[in-house]
Amino acid sequence: MQRLHISTSTREQLLDITREVAEAIAASEVAEGVAVVYCPHTTAGITINENADPDVARDLLETLRRLVPCDSGYRHCEGNSDAHVKATMVGSSATIPIENGHPLLGTWQGVYLTEFDGPRNRTVIVTVMGS
Ligand code: ZN
Repeated sequence: MQRLHISTSTREQLLDITREVAEAIAASEVAEGVAVVYCPHTTAGITINENADPDVARDLLETLRRLVPCDSGYRHCEGNSDAHVKATMVGSSATIPIENGHPLLGTWQGVYLTEFDGPRNRTVIVTVMGS
């Protein structure tokens, strides 16, 4: 198990962590198996989507903003309820197959840490299982 330490720079951000995840898998020396990429935070998450065109990440954030407004009569007193809702919609982990020591991602896929209440220092845990 490895911990990645990631600093986000804005309140809402999709941060491409594909390289860091691939390095964690390589360091595990597992050739065939799976990696679980997990975010232990309540206002951030993990998703896999296109990282070729940066407009895709922008569109994802903009759509989540439209679906989950900042101020919608929430009860939670911290003022970041929209971030909690968005984090739950995105989910807190992704499971990626490993082939020949590399994450088996599609040509256009990347792994993102999704920040909804930054900027903050975040931890991402990569657990690699296999042989
Ligand atoms: Zn909160």
